[in-house]
Amino acid sequence: MRSLMKKTFVITSLLATSVIFAADPHWTYDEPWENLSNTTTPTKASDLPYAECSLGQKQSPVDLNTAKAVTSTNALKTAYKSESLTVVNNGHSIKVNLPTTTKSVLAIGSEQYTLLQYHIHAPSEHVVNGRASAAEIHFVHSTPDGKLAVVGVLVDAPATAKKNAEFQKILDVAPSNLTDTPALIADPTKLLPSIAKFYLYSGSLTTPPCTEGVNWYVLKTPIQITPAQLTAFEALYHDNARPAQALNGRQVLAK
Ligand SMILES: [Zn+2]
Repeated sequence: MRSLMKKTFVITSLLATSVIFAADPHWTYDEPWENLSNTTTPTKASDLPYAECSLGQKQSPVDLNTAKAVTSTNALKTAYKSESLTVVNNGHSIKVNLPTTTKSVLAIGSEQYTLLQYHIHAPSEHVVNGRASAAEIHFVHSTPDGKLAVVGVLVDAPATAKKNAEFQKILDVAPSNLTDTPALIADPTKLLPSIAKFYLYSGSLTTPPCTEGVNWYVLKTPIQITPAQLTAFEALYHDNARPAQALNGRQVLAK
């Protein structure tokens, strides 16, 4: 799967993408995003809403090279609750949305981030010393003023794994179409491994518009699902992972 991601992208003509008249251009993992536009003759910056995917110097994901890691003093504390969530298929992943009233929060030092949603990539987007995991779950959080922090949980699927009940809850209701929005009573805490050790760096959204200023915390401890659970997810989405982006001088910290 890594070789597929490394394959040279085919240049898609602007004409081919201009048939969709939506606020944001449709995108896939099989094309470069920076040239996608809703207009046949882009003339201004806003005609290329995903330009940052190419121009940005702090993009995600990255290769977390442990050799370059240094000690960070930031500590994470999660307080997620069991509540009624909504599962959607957004055309790129299976995503679990939190209600706007949620009290599920992540504390980073004295700062409080509210959990907005979590979703799944297979294989993982972050790689550790060049090695991808079977999958990665992203827990996306925001402060009231829009500062983003994402906790990445790497997922292994060894033959010896026990069935992951919390992951199975998502699989059991995950819609194969873009319209159904089943409810799910779930506790995101049960998908978390130990949060004591993690990699930390400044990056971006890994999907268009690739907005930067995202604080990334990729946990060192993986969780496990069974190979059958991985196969079940991959029946919905596989290779929905952006390849590792250049660090461009950024430092990866580790705790
Ligand atoms: Zn993601």
